[in-house]
Amino acid sequence: MKEDFNELSEQIRAGKIEREDAFFLARNPSYLFCIADELRKEEKGDIVTYVVNRNINFTNICVGVCKFCAFREEEEKGYLLSIDVVLSKVQEAVNNEATEICIQGGLHPNLLVDNYCEIIEMIKSHFDVHIHAYSPMEIYHMARNSGMTEAEVLRELKKAGLDSIPGTAAEILDDSIREVICPRKIKTEQWVEIIKTAHRLGIPSTATIMYGHIESLEDRIDHIFKIREIQEETRGFTEFVLLKFMRKQNELGRMVNSRASFFEDAIVHALARVILHPYCTNIQASWVKLGVRDAQKMLYFGVNDLGGTLMEENISRLSGSQAGEYMSPEDFDRVIKDAGRISRRRSTLYELL
Ligand code: SF4
Repeated sequence: MKEDFNELSEQIRAGKIEREDAFFLARNPSYLFCIADELRKEEKGDIVTYVVNRNINFTNICVGVCKFCAFREEEEKGYLLSIDVVLSKVQEAVNNEATEICIQGGLHPNLLVDNYCEIIEMIKSHFDVHIHAYSPMEIYHMARNSGMTEAEVLRELKKAGLDSIPGTAAEILDDSIREVICPRKIKTEQWVEIIKTAHRLGIPSTATIMYGHIESLEDRIDHIFKIREIQEETRGFTEFVLLKFMRKQNELGRMVNSRASFFEDAIVHALARVILHPYCTNIQASWVKLGVRDAQKMLYFGVNDLGGTLMEENISRLSGSQAGEYMSPEDFDRVIKDAGRISRRRSTLYELL
């Protein structure tokens, strides 16, 4: 067993992991945790990063029907923020040293690409901040509403000042799972194509997984391998973010018997480090989804980044997250230092600040 492990470890270091190796490691977590921690140390040392950012969910009006969502509202009951309100939120963020503004919202039935561009242009004309905005699902929605292709939409957004896009709406990249949990969302192939198009146009993105609902270990592993394949081709992902499914107040939560255990959390974070090596070296745990204490523990299972300060978090809170809406830079510094690591602020694109 030991010899097998040494051989496998060499193979993984050389960037040659196979799907069955990932299953072997998931069934032998002591080996998995050991190699994930070694790779994290070799790739990132003891530095743990975070970004000072602000989330702005500019509308909760949405034509989607995702079963895990407690955020969406019908047009009559929902909100759409005015540009002035968006600007005042950015001002507040910049006053608190934010370097990134993350903008996402529901799929508003009446908004066109010009409306999305206007938000970016107005922010860019007043502030020097990185704009990380609009998921592949939102890009698809804008294209559909505006009678354009996704590539045309991405070009317009880039011209308006878009710097990068969140790789959300990935959930699990398997159409049989998507059909159950988010039947109106883009299919796997569309998500992949929009992400690759963005990367080709010089717009980097994050990559995500939402785990801990109806998917199997096999689905998780396949999802991470799909991300690896894209990254091998485009090198456009800045990080891989693991998002644990939040079960409260949503239909999917009522279909799922139990919450993923801490052990499952550790395994999927460690698998991400190992499978994505050496193509994507930033593995992020979400303090909002896991809670601060469990996110801190993930630093021992392959994780080197703890995400952002957020300042405003609506989507997870409405599905039962109790981690709060804001984690200050001082809190990040303390949590990282308490774990025996070195805390560093970063930009969205992972330059150390
Ligand atoms: S997850 Fe997004 S697209 Fe799906 S229903 Fe909620 S707001 Fe709409």
